Amino acid sequence: MGPEQFDAAATVLRDAPVVAIACHVNPDADALGSMLGLAHHLVARGTRVICAFPGPPASAPRWAKELPGLDLLVDPQDFPAQPDVMVTCDCAAFDRLGELGQASRAARELIWIDHHRSNDGLGTIRLVDPVASSTCELVAGLIDAIGGEMTDASAICLYAGLITDTGRFQYEAATPDTLRLAARLRERPFDHARLSQILYEDNRAAYLDVLSVAMGRAQLDETADLVWTYVLWSDLERANVGPADVDDLIDVLRTAREADAAALIKQQRDGRFKVSVRSRGAHDLSAVAAAFGGGGHRLAAGYTSDAGPAETVAKLRAALLGETASP
Ligand code: MN
Repeated sequence: MGPEQFDAAATVLRDAPVVAIACHVNPDADALGSMLGLAHHLVARGTRVICAFPGPPASAPRWAKELPGLDLLVDPQDFPAQPDVMVTCDCAAFDRLGELGQASRAARELIWIDHHRSNDGLGTIRLVDPVASSTCELVAGLIDAIGGEMTDASAICLYAGLITDTGRFQYEAATPDTLRLAARLRERPFDHARLSQILYEDNRAAYLDVLSVAMGRAQLDETADLVWTYVLWSDLERANVGPADVDDLIDVLRTAREADAAALIKQQRDGRFKVSVRSRGAHDLSAVAAAFGGGGHRLAAGYTSDAGPAETVAKLRAALLGETASP
């Protein structure tokens, strides 16, 4: 992807009186941050902007209230059915848009901004760069292409996505350009320490009980180069914590140096299991997850499994052993 895609998207967005923006279901800080970061820039230019993610705006994660612009969010049923110009942020696949997918199909111009390696290939203008640190970094480039000074509100939103998708600047995708962008955003007057705290150190005490249960079940499988554990819906109910509260358990699990791959198998409300997989560098988990109908990045990916933890891990084990055996 080159500057011509940024220019093409910028031309459309500069001229559009109304822009509809959507991000993926269960939005993380990169999804919500990139959507609102772009929205603030367009609003400052006088554009009417409508934002949504699948599900009611009230279901936004707890940390989202730290980001300005939640008032731009509408219920999916109030999102334009046939937007003239629509933007999607951080969506690898059409189905990640949930009930907003139909609007993306009906949009005249669809600007698809994403950095997942596995990507459906939708959009009339595609800003898709699998080596970008975050969708927020791509949106910063788009804002520069549109022109005008970036607002403080855009800066905090983009910073939120930048720090979370780079693991606080830890992952390989954090380039010198990423750090320069972070420095540029950090020039703005927002409380970055409070933002980091609410994103990373803001669990209910009951989370520690679930952490203890999950880590007590962790198993090391040196043959498959895998460490894994699982969390049942009943564990969450017992501790009264939500499924999003345990997303970070994978970050503890993957610190085990004896295994390259880590897997957290989390039961959802509907009984199915969400599988988060991470690699310390040796596995392409984007391909592994895609084989199970999911997707993501090379070192961080996910998918959903209908089987229980034992069967799910058996299939994952086979996939990891097959993947390392192939040339
Ligand atoms: Mn992202």
